[in-house]
Amino acid sequence: MRILVVEDDPVLGDGLSRSLRHAGYAVDTAQDGKLADDLLSVHSFDLVVLDLGLPGLDGLEVLRRLRRRPSSAPVLILTARDEVEDRVAGLDLGADDYMVKPFSIRELLARVRALLRRAQPGRSALPDELRFGDVVIDFRSYEATRSGKPLDLTRKEFGVLRFLGSRAGEVVARDELLNEVWGYENYPTTRTVDNHIASLRAKIEADPAAPRYLRTVHGVGYKFVTNTLQEPGRDADGA
Ligand code: CA
Repeated sequence: MRILVVEDDPVLGDGLSRSLRHAGYAVDTAQDGKLADDLLSVHSFDLVVLDLGLPGLDGLEVLRRLRRRPSSAPVLILTARDEVEDRVAGLDLGADDYMVKPFSIRELLARVRALLRRAQPGRSALPDELRFGDVVIDFRSYEATRSGKPLDLTRKEFGVLRFLGSRAGEVVARDELLNEVWGYENYPTTRTVDNHIASLRAKIEADPAAPRYLRTVHGVGYKFVTNTLQEPGRDADGA
């Protein structure tokens, strides 16, 4: 799940991005309306958090342009207490929800979850937990164990497993993993994905060279397989 946060207040913008990333979303940010509009014209997002009072191009204009595009991403607008008319205009322009500053991050996260659920009823949600073989991973507490012993995973490794887990049994392209787990900021290469998969295999697979769970699909990407009755390691390349 990829979210664009448009907020010119650096403190609030950073706090929002950090909280959303912590909740497992890939987050991109824009500090002004022009950049937001550029990003929205080339990338697709699952949700946009949009401050209305922005330099460059104001939030209402960003929203107006977004709604002229085919994107159906839900938009949560952020408004100051005295911007009642802008809030109404935003809702009229197709914003899906709003929050008045100052707001609680927990409430914002709850609204984000609700908007995403409403927008994508068919799409499988990110799992809160994965269990396979002797591995248990809890994405709420960011704790993992293997045979009951703590397993040391990085934040990105949790992210990769969580996204692959939400699509268990399906092939996921490297580019899709990059978009969902890293976002376009500090855009790494697909090699980064391969390195994370290799590191994950070393931690969760009995034989990292013949992986049971994190399979390589040559030329495409990766597949997370929990039904290990399938012949293990057949499509492994050890990458
Ligand atoms: Ca502002």
